[in-house]
Amino acid sequence: MNRLFCKTTIFVFLIFLVFPLSSSMAESRHLVVVDPAHGGRDKGVKLSKKFHEKDITLAIAKLLKKDLDRSKNIRVLLTRSADKDVSISDRGKIAKKPDTGIFISLHVNAGFGKNSSGFEVYYTGFKSPTTDKNASKEILKDMVATKYLNESIRFARIVQKNMEKIFRRKDRGLRSAPILVLEGLTVPAIVLEIGFATNIKDRKILMDKATQESVAKALAKSIREFF
Ligand SMILES: [Zn+2]
Repeated sequence: MNRLFCKTTIFVFLIFLVFPLSSSMAESRHLVVVDPAHGGRDKGVKLSKKFHEKDITLAIAKLLKKDLDRSKNIRVLLTRSADKDVSISDRGKIAKKPDTGIFISLHVNAGFGKNSSGFEVYYTGFKSPTTDKNASKEILKDMVATKYLNESIRFARIVQKNMEKIFRRKDRGLRSAPILVLEGLTVPAIVLEIGFATNIKDRKILMDKATQESVAKALAKSIREFF
């Protein structure tokens, strides 16, 4: 076979691997991996004598799963569903399932002074160095990286829009940052810092069941919007 033709065929095939025909080919349910950060001995930041970050993230993750489980086209996997230790690498392994559609890690913020409040959405850059521009493998890597970066930003924007209704206009915006749990993930992924444990008002509403339910609802809405 003509070598150029062969190369072109492989390239076209690779493009279809990266950008599958979303509606007809991916009819199975979208997999959402929700990561309630911390757990077990790793308590995260302290909100009160009784509550730590690990309790808030788990409560919201469970409410989110309950909400999304009602959607026929979405299924949810939690990196932990109880108060236990789960390593970053084990969380990564769950997130890296071949059919993961979105990964979202939940945290509670702290620091930056007592006046800092609101939420923050992080996504990661996925920049892969291109050393040899002619190597189709490198081009493919770049295409995958760009696709997931764009999708992460798109998802982050939807989450920001819906979260603003809970933390009115006090959000701290979108940020790109290297985050351990997001590293090496080839799926759209974000980390959401839901309010500040170091802010009196945020702390109070984060421990409130009604706020936890609103956050879960806003996230469920965002995930449905994203798909
Ligand atoms: Zn945290």
